[in-house]
Amino acid sequence: MGRYIGPACRLCRREGMKLFLKGDRCYMAKCPIETGRSAPGMHGQRRSKTSDYGVQLREKQKLRRMYGMQEGQFRLFFQRALKSRGITGEKLLQALELRLDNVAYRLGFAPSRRAARQMVLHGHLAVNNRKATVPSMVLKAGDVVQVRDRKQGREYAGKWMESAESRGRAAWLSLDKQQFRGEVLHVPTHEEIAPVVREHLIVELYSK
Ligand code: SF4
Repeated sequence: MGRYIGPACRLCRREGMKLFLKGDRCYMAKCPIETGRSAPGMHGQRRSKTSDYGVQLREKQKLRRMYGMQEGQFRLFFQRALKSRGITGEKLLQALELRLDNVAYRLGFAPSRRAARQMVLHGHLAVNNRKATVPSMVLKAGDVVQVRDRKQGREYAGKWMESAESRGRAAWLSLDKQQFRGEVLHVPTHEEIAPVVREHLIVELYSK
Protein backbone atom coordinates (compact mmCIF):
# COMPACT_ATOMS: atom_id res chain seq x y z
CA MET A 1 0.00 0.00 0.00
CA GLY A 2 1.36 3.40 -0.98
CA ARG A 3 1.89 6.45 1.14
CA TYR A 4 -1.27 8.42 1.97
CA ILE A 5 -1.36 11.60 -0.11
CA GLY A 6 -4.92 12.72 0.63
CA PRO A 7 -5.98 15.61 2.89
CA ALA A 8 -4.13 15.51 6.21
CA CYS A 9 -7.05 16.93 8.19
CA ARG A 10 -9.19 13.98 7.14
CA LEU A 11 -6.91 11.69 9.16
CA CYS A 12 -7.34 13.81 12.29
CA ARG A 13 -11.10 13.89 11.79
CA ARG A 14 -11.13 10.11 11.45
CA GLU A 15 -9.23 9.72 14.73
CA GLY A 16 -11.22 12.48 16.44
CA MET A 17 -8.11 14.25 17.66
CA LYS A 18 -5.33 16.55 16.53
CA LEU A 19 -2.43 14.68 14.96
CA PHE A 20 -0.57 17.91 14.11
CA LEU A 21 0.03 17.07 10.47
CA LYS A 22 -0.11 20.54 8.94
CA GLY A 23 2.20 22.82 10.84
CA ASP A 24 1.02 26.28 11.92
CA ARG A 25 -2.56 25.69 10.81
CA CYS A 26 -2.86 23.03 13.55
CA TYR A 27 -2.48 25.75 16.19
CA MET A 28 -5.14 28.00 14.68
CA ALA A 29 -8.85 28.22 15.42
CA LYS A 30 -9.69 27.08 11.88
CA CYS A 31 -8.30 23.58 12.53
CA PRO A 32 -11.29 21.26 11.77
CA ILE A 33 -10.90 19.54 15.13
CA GLU A 34 -11.22 22.92 16.88
CA THR A 35 -14.29 23.75 14.83
CA GLY A 36 -15.83 20.42 15.78
CA ARG A 37 -16.09 18.79 12.35
CA SER A 38 -17.20 15.17 12.49
CA ALA A 39 -15.42 12.12 11.13
CA PRO A 40 -15.30 11.94 7.32
CA GLY A 41 -17.72 9.89 5.26
CA MET A 42 -21.47 9.38 5.11
CA HIS A 43 -21.67 7.86 8.56
CA GLY A 44 -19.13 10.13 10.21
CA GLN A 45 -21.58 11.36 12.82
CA ARG A 46 -22.87 7.92 13.74
CA ARG A 47 -21.67 6.63 17.10
CA SER A 48 -21.42 2.89 17.27
CA LYS A 49 -20.10 0.62 19.99
CA THR A 50 -16.48 -0.28 19.33
CA SER A 51 -15.02 -3.70 20.02
CA ASP A 52 -11.78 -4.20 21.96
CA TYR A 53 -10.06 -4.89 18.66
CA GLY A 54 -11.50 -1.68 17.21
CA VAL A 55 -10.18 0.38 20.13
CA GLN A 56 -6.70 -1.17 19.83
CA LEU A 57 -6.70 -0.60 16.07
CA ARG A 58 -7.60 3.06 16.44
CA GLU A 59 -4.80 3.63 18.96
CA LYS A 60 -2.32 2.09 16.54
CA GLN A 61 -3.64 4.13 13.62
CA LYS A 62 -3.38 7.36 15.60
CA LEU A 63 0.27 6.77 16.42
CA ARG A 64 1.18 5.52 12.96
CA ARG A 65 -0.51 8.45 11.25
CA MET A 66 0.95 10.96 13.64
CA TYR A 67 4.45 9.88 12.61
CA GLY A 68 3.44 9.54 8.94
CA MET A 69 4.44 5.91 8.63
CA GLN A 70 3.19 3.07 6.50
CA GLU A 71 1.98 -0.11 8.16
CA GLY A 72 5.01 -2.22 7.21
CA GLN A 73 7.52 0.24 8.59
CA PHE A 74 5.49 0.83 11.73
CA ARG A 75 5.35 -2.89 12.38
CA LEU A 76 9.10 -3.09 11.87
CA PHE A 77 9.58 -0.47 14.59
CA PHE A 78 7.31 -2.52 16.82
CA GLN A 79 9.28 -5.72 16.18
CA ARG A 80 12.51 -3.93 17.10
CA ALA A 81 10.90 -2.60 20.28
CA LEU A 82 9.72 -6.09 21.14
CA LYS A 83 13.24 -7.46 20.84
CA SER A 84 14.87 -4.73 22.90
CA ARG A 85 15.09 -4.77 26.67
CA GLY A 86 12.47 -2.85 28.61
CA ILE A 87 8.79 -2.09 28.27
CA THR A 88 7.79 -2.68 24.64
CA GLY A 89 5.30 0.20 24.40
CA GLU A 90 7.80 2.66 25.84
CA LYS A 91 10.59 1.43 23.58
CA LEU A 92 8.33 1.89 20.58
CA LEU A 93 7.50 5.47 21.56
CA GLN A 94 11.17 6.27 22.13
CA ALA A 95 12.22 4.89 18.75
CA LEU A 96 9.50 6.91 17.03
CA GLU A 97 10.54 10.09 18.83
CA LEU A 98 14.17 9.52 17.90
CA ARG A 99 13.48 9.23 14.19
CA LEU A 100 15.48 11.84 12.30
CA ASP A 101 12.40 13.46 10.72
CA ASN A 102 10.72 13.76 14.13
CA VAL A 103 13.84 15.23 15.75
CA ALA A 104 14.09 17.80 12.93
CA TYR A 105 10.43 18.68 13.52
CA ARG A 106 10.89 18.91 17.30
CA LEU A 107 13.89 21.19 16.80
CA GLY A 108 11.68 23.47 14.72
CA PHE A 109 13.54 23.05 11.41
CA ALA A 110 10.22 22.25 9.70
CA PRO A 111 6.54 23.00 10.50
CA SER A 112 5.41 19.35 10.52
CA ARG A 113 6.83 15.83 10.46
CA ARG A 114 5.76 15.53 6.86
CA ALA A 115 7.72 18.66 5.93
CA ALA A 116 10.70 17.48 7.99
CA ARG A 117 10.67 14.22 6.08
CA GLN A 118 10.87 16.15 2.80
CA MET A 119 13.73 18.17 4.18
CA VAL A 120 15.68 15.01 4.95
CA LEU A 121 14.91 13.47 1.57
CA HIS A 122 16.15 16.62 -0.17
CA GLY A 123 19.48 16.33 1.60
CA HIS A 124 19.23 19.43 3.80
CA LEU A 125 20.28 17.71 7.02
CA ALA A 126 23.47 16.22 8.40
CA VAL A 127 23.88 13.91 11.38
CA ASN A 128 27.26 14.07 13.11
CA ASN A 129 28.59 16.10 10.16
CA ARG A 130 27.54 13.55 7.56
CA LYS A 131 24.74 14.12 5.09
CA ALA A 132 21.67 12.09 6.14
CA THR A 133 18.87 11.27 3.72
CA VAL A 134 16.96 8.56 5.58
CA PRO A 135 14.00 10.04 7.55
CA SER A 136 13.48 6.84 9.57
CA MET A 137 17.06 6.83 10.90
CA VAL A 138 16.87 6.36 14.67
CA LEU A 139 19.17 8.72 16.55
CA LYS A 140 20.81 8.13 19.90
CA ALA A 141 21.95 10.29 22.81
CA GLY A 142 24.81 12.55 21.74
CA ASP A 143 23.88 12.65 18.06
CA VAL A 144 24.03 16.09 16.47
CA VAL A 145 21.60 17.17 13.76
CA GLN A 146 22.43 20.21 11.66
CA VAL A 147 20.88 21.97 8.71
CA ARG A 148 23.63 21.77 6.13
CA ASP A 149 25.41 24.91 5.06
CA ARG A 150 23.13 25.48 2.08
CA LYS A 151 21.19 28.70 1.56
CA GLN A 152 17.90 27.06 0.65
CA GLY A 153 17.76 24.70 3.65
CA ARG A 154 18.83 27.32 6.17
CA GLU A 155 16.36 29.89 4.89
CA TYR A 156 13.59 27.34 5.18
CA ALA A 157 14.59 26.20 8.68
CA GLY A 158 15.12 29.78 9.87
CA LYS A 159 11.59 30.68 8.86
CA TRP A 160 10.08 27.89 10.94
CA MET A 161 12.40 27.98 13.93
CA GLU A 162 10.86 31.27 15.05
CA SER A 163 7.28 29.99 15.07
CA ALA A 164 8.39 26.73 16.71
CA GLU A 165 9.58 28.72 19.74
CA SER A 166 6.01 29.28 20.86
CA ARG A 167 5.36 25.51 20.92
CA GLY A 168 8.22 25.01 23.37
CA ARG A 169 11.14 22.67 22.82
CA ALA A 170 11.49 19.10 24.07
CA ALA A 171 13.66 18.94 27.19
CA TRP A 172 15.69 16.09 25.72
CA LEU A 173 16.95 18.24 22.86
CA SER A 174 19.22 21.27 22.79
CA LEU A 175 19.28 23.84 19.99
CA ASP A 176 21.87 26.32 18.78
CA LYS A 177 19.81 28.59 16.55
CA GLN A 178 22.79 30.49 15.13
CA GLN A 179 24.42 27.27 13.96
CA PHE A 180 21.14 25.56 12.93
CA ARG A 181 22.32 22.72 15.10
CA GLY A 182 20.56 20.50 17.62
CA GLU A 183 21.67 17.68 19.86
CA VAL A 184 19.91 14.69 21.39
CA LEU A 185 20.76 15.14 25.07
CA HIS A 186 19.24 11.86 26.19
CA VAL A 187 16.67 9.28 25.17
CA PRO A 188 13.27 10.82 26.03
CA THR A 189 11.46 9.38 29.02
CA HIS A 190 7.83 8.35 28.90
CA GLU A 191 6.89 11.54 30.78
CA GLU A 192 8.82 13.69 28.30
CA ILE A 193 7.10 12.07 25.35
CA ALA A 194 3.69 12.42 27.06
CA PRO A 195 2.01 10.10 24.55
CA VAL A 196 -1.49 10.89 23.39
CA VAL A 197 -2.23 7.20 22.82
CA ARG A 198 -2.42 4.21 25.14
CA GLU A 199 0.58 2.36 23.80
CA HIS A 200 -0.16 -0.83 25.74
CA LEU A 201 -3.20 -1.31 23.50
CA ILE A 202 -0.91 -1.29 20.45
CA VAL A 203 1.24 -3.96 22.08
CA GLU A 204 -1.88 -6.02 22.73
CA LEU A 205 -3.00 -5.60 19.12
CA TYR A 206 0.27 -6.83 17.64
CA SER A 207 0.61 -9.60 20.19
CA LYS A 208 -2.51 -11.42 18.98
FE1 SF4 B 1 -5.71 19.56 10.16
FE2 SF4 B 1 -3.66 20.05 11.81
FE3 SF4 B 1 -6.12 20.27 12.70
FE4 SF4 B 1 -5.11 17.87 12.10
S1 SF4 B 1 -4.43 19.20 13.75
S2 SF4 B 1 -7.15 18.64 11.60
S3 SF4 B 1 -3.82 18.38 10.37
S4 SF4 B 1 -5.19 21.53 11.12
